[in-house]
Parts: sequence; C-alpha cells; structure tokens
Amino acid sequence: MLISLSETYKREGRLAEALEVLENGALKSPASTGIHLAIAKSSEEAGDFLKASMALEDVLRLDPGNPYALKTLRDIKIREKGWSEAAAYQRKLMDSSRDDGARDREKTLLAAIIYEDAASAAEDGRLDEATTLARESLRHDPRFTPSDILTSEILYRRGKVAEAISVLEDSLGKSEEPYPLLLKIEDLCIKKSAPDKALDRYRKEVYTHPGDLRMRQLLARLYLRLEMVGQAVEELERLYNESGDDYYTKVLLGAAYLRNGEADRAALLFAKALMLEGDLSPIFKCSVCDAAAGQWAARCPACGEWNTLEMGGPRQRGGSVSRMIQA
Ligand SMILES: [Zn+2]
Repeated sequence: MLISLSETYKREGRLAEALEVLENGALKSPASTGIHLAIAKSSEEAGDFLKASMALEDVLRLDPGNPYALKTLRDIKIREKGWSEAAAYQRKLMDSSRDDGARDREKTLLAAIIYEDAASAAEDGRLDEATTLARESLRHDPRFTPSDILTSEILYRRGKVAEAISVLEDSLGKSEEPYPLLLKIEDLCIKKSAPDKALDRYRKEVYTHPGDLRMRQLLARLYLRLEMVGQAVEELERLYNESGDDYYTKVLLGAAYLRNGEADRAALLFAKALMLEGDLSPIFKCSVCDAAAGQWAARCPACGEWNTLEMGGPRQRGGSVSRMIQA
C-alpha cells in the first residue's frame, strides 16, 4: 500500500514526497525487503546513489543473495571505480546465481573488475599487490589479455625485460587478438636492443600466413622504425597493389616514400588517406560497438566493455600465432 502511494507521488513528479512515504514505512516495518528496494529505486532515479547504496545494503541484510541489490551495488561501485568492493559484490552474485549459461560472462566481468583493481594498484606503485591481483584476475578468465599485459608491464618496471617478454609470448598462445601483444613485444625487444627478435617473429609469421594483412603492416612498420626504408617500400608497395583501399597501408607507404625522399608520391598517398596518426600506430576497433580508438586499451573508451579492442580492418588470418611460438 505504501509502495503504491509512493508510486502515485512519483507519477505526479513529487519525488521527495514519494521517498518520504517509503522512509517512514521502513521505520515502521524495517524487515520489509520490498520497501527497501523501493527506496533504492527511487533514490537511484533521483540520482542519490549514496542513499540507494544504503537501502540496497538494507535489502542484503534481509536477503543476502538478492540479485537486484547485488547487481546494482556492483554497478554503482564500478561507476565510482571502487574496484575491490565491486569485485566482492560480483563474487556474491556469482555464488547465488544458478544460471550456468551466463557463467562465463560473469567470470569475465569479475576478471575485468579485478584487473582494474590491479591496474590502479600498479599506478600507485603497489607492484606486489598489482601482480597478485593480475594473477587472480587470470584465474577467473585465463584469456583476459589485459591482465597479461599488465603483468608484463610490472616486470618491465622491475627491470625484468626477458620475463616481461615471455609473459606476452605465453599470452599470444591463448589470445584471439595477437596484434596488441605483438606491438608490446616489439617495443620490449627494441628497448632491449634486440630488434632482430621482433623482426624474425614478424617475418616468420608473414611467411607462414601470407594472407595476414595486419602482420605484413606490422613488419613494414618495423622496417621503418629500424630505418630499413628500402625493404619497407618494397613490402608496402606489394601490400598497396593487393589491397589499395586499406587506410593504414596508405599511411605507412606514404611515410616510407617520405623517408625515401619521394615527397610527391608521399603527399599523394597521405592525401588519399586523409588523416594521419603521428607515430604511425594502427587504429583499433571495438568488436562490440565498432568504435575506433587511437591506441589499444583494456577497456573500450566508447562502450566500456573490457578486452574488445582489435586492430582495425577485416581479419585475414589463416591460423594462430601460437603455432609459430611452439614451432
Ligand atoms: Zn566498444
């Protein structure tokens, strides 16, 4: 009855009065889950997330597995970047859920939340804690690549470059999207003054998967980074003739011509590509919302999904990188 009265107030736009009716009701019958839920929903609608959180905690005291309360509290904590609290709610939600079908998705979300906790610990310089959290994240979803990348970054910060590379190589074996990992491995090889290692890797991959446009672009970009301009031009002209419409191929070939002293040909290609990224890094695209991003990130800047950014353009791979690693 109280709830329907407050609904009437709400329909009339009298939010404060609707909430007051419910709060008085909660004082009289503190054991009513329904009233606490209604307070939470009204507070949420009014944008008062603190009050909503408190009401939802009241719900959980009466009904510890209440899925609406757990889900909403989790989402409020995600919004506030309260990662460890968000992880605790997500764990309870998974404990009380019977739906096996949604299990993998829920596990991936838990892995993502723990990853964010790890990343903020790393940012604060708490490297041991960050490493432990990254490992825990991978226990919930072994294919959550961002946690491997973070682990590798922490190892690099500790001066353990070889170990940092080997974490990324292990991750390649289980990842569906190899390019962000390959770019990181390339950077680490160059920092370690071992660019030949990166070069060998790309060359072998291109040799075994000649249809892999992305891999050939990465090889050509590395030629440019290493001032091997002639080989870059050769590889890129071949690519351009095979798939001239590709934006990133045009940008790379334009840059190669420029370094080769062929300014006119470069200008022509840049004009075709219209837009130019400063460091010639590839564009990434979200596999969920299709938004473009200038660089790889753990989380899509547009839709907020985790681990969805892929190097742009159609996938043209014949096999997985893992085959090459094991060979
Ligand atoms: Zn997205």
